[in-house]
Amino acid sequence: MQVQVTETQKNHEHMQVENIKLFINGQFVDSKSGASFENKNPFTNKINNYIAEGREADINQAVLSAKEAFENGPWGKMKLKERMNYINRIADLIDEEIEEIAFLEALDTGLPISQTRNQTARAAENFRFYARMVETKLHGESYPMDDEFINYTVYKPLGVIGLITPWNAPFMLETWKVAPALATGNTVVLKPAELSPLTANKLAEIIHKAKVPDGVFNVVHGFGETAGAALVAHPNVKAISFTGETTTGSTIIKNSADTLKKTSMELGGKSPLIVFDDADLERALDAAIWGIFSFNGERCTSNSRVFLHKNIKDQFIEKLKVRVANIKIGDPMDSSTQLGPLIEKDHYNKVKKYIEIAKQEGCEVIQGVVPEKVKAGNFVPPTLLLNARNDMRVCQEEIFGPVMAVIEFETDEEVLHMANDVSYGLAGFVWTKDLKRAHRMADAIEAGMLWINAQNVRDLRIPFGGMKDSGIGREGGHYAMFEFYTEPKVIHVAIGDHHIPQFGK
Ligand code: NAD
Repeated sequence: MQVQVTETQKNHEHMQVENIKLFINGQFVDSKSGASFENKNPFTNKINNYIAEGREADINQAVLSAKEAFENGPWGKMKLKERMNYINRIADLIDEEIEEIAFLEALDTGLPISQTRNQTARAAENFRFYARMVETKLHGESYPMDDEFINYTVYKPLGVIGLITPWNAPFMLETWKVAPALATGNTVVLKPAELSPLTANKLAEIIHKAKVPDGVFNVVHGFGETAGAALVAHPNVKAISFTGETTTGSTIIKNSADTLKKTSMELGGKSPLIVFDDADLERALDAAIWGIFSFNGERCTSNSRVFLHKNIKDQFIEKLKVRVANIKIGDPMDSSTQLGPLIEKDHYNKVKKYIEIAKQEGCEVIQGVVPEKVKAGNFVPPTLLLNARNDMRVCQEEIFGPVMAVIEFETDEEVLHMANDVSYGLAGFVWTKDLKRAHRMADAIEAGMLWINAQNVRDLRIPFGGMKDSGIGREGGHYAMFEFYTEPKVIHVAIGDHHIPQFGK
């Protein structure tokens, strides 16, 4: 992709990115229908470029090339070391192009560039991590031998995997699926979110540059109901790994039933952060602010519900107000920006509507101020919903923006009940110095991931994912490798003369 960046990288009028094609069988191609769609800049609401719109016919072509590459290409047959060299090469190329990728991601999504830089570095690490993992840990088991048999297992790739991804942190989330899928020997068709296609195209360019064999990795841009649905329904796609909204996940599970696909679901969240009165309040404050206002609040694990013990509530809220007023709202290309514009106008309207609902439900709304000069963008200022109750819509439904609901509590039992009284179960954060209480709460909160006295720090070896409406299955570490992208095969080898029934003799 040709990108022209002005000296300061700040004048969005002068940022030009080329139109984008599909990437199928190692070629950048137009869609079969010739259709394309607009890609807008959330900071200016002007058009960045046009994206080739893939539909069923393009998906069919991409799946065919991935199937051919899996069955007859060199990818599955090459030595493990050689395949891992490709995976590591992809990581190196991401590192080499980190500035351009971070720039494209900020241009496309409105995420602050300081944050897209970190996410791009993490994307490179996703590839390195899975190269190490597969090389050292992807092995089967052998079972105690007796005088008749040796039994052992091998883990085989599934074939063509469909990856369907969302628009928040797109590059990092795409690579979090692509890396284990390719490292374990599968081939891939990626259907990125229609609202954030730029870095998925960049990934195709990088994989092309790394000389990964044709057909191993394909990208079909397009809409969920057409391109996404065709990928889900395709009989030659063996599995779908999906990250996105809970309702979309449910539709995908239904639509994949006819072809008996394996599915992995990383879905929405409404995660609690609980501050007890014995907590380190300054650190809890830093974590609460970062957890909801980083990534523009468009983050699945954000602490959108903050529970404050009544003894510390007032002082904590005073500090929250000061911090919210000071958050730097502005141009995503400015390295000092902390909060950028939301992805698109519809999403902006949805978040604004929730703030209106909060007012109607009786919340006091405290907000930062959006500077006049950036008013063309989809900016929602950092927002506190005070006097919230857990049964309000704004505490039950995922808003997916920079909006923190603040709820008071008095006892451990009460806060535990409220933390769990929600349909989601992705993440949770507990702040207390009482070790027993911390562990009791972490054990009892219904969520896939709990942090005690910590913000959302990730260790790639451990399982990532949610309970309840937040998902099915886990990504990360050996979970993705053994439980999703490969399947075990058992091999029984007779080494003696075991009994064989003698029918008809
Ligand atoms: P979305 O569900 O609207 O779209 C996600 C993807 O699904 C897009 O590529 C879209 O085109 C595709 N899609 C839509 N309808 C489809 C269909 N019928 N068949 C096949 N594909 C279809 O989600 P979004 O708005 O892009 O992303 C935000 C959501 O993602 C939030 O709910 C957020 O919590 C969730 N999320 C979860 C995690 C996690 O790990 N749990 C991580 C990031 C985001």
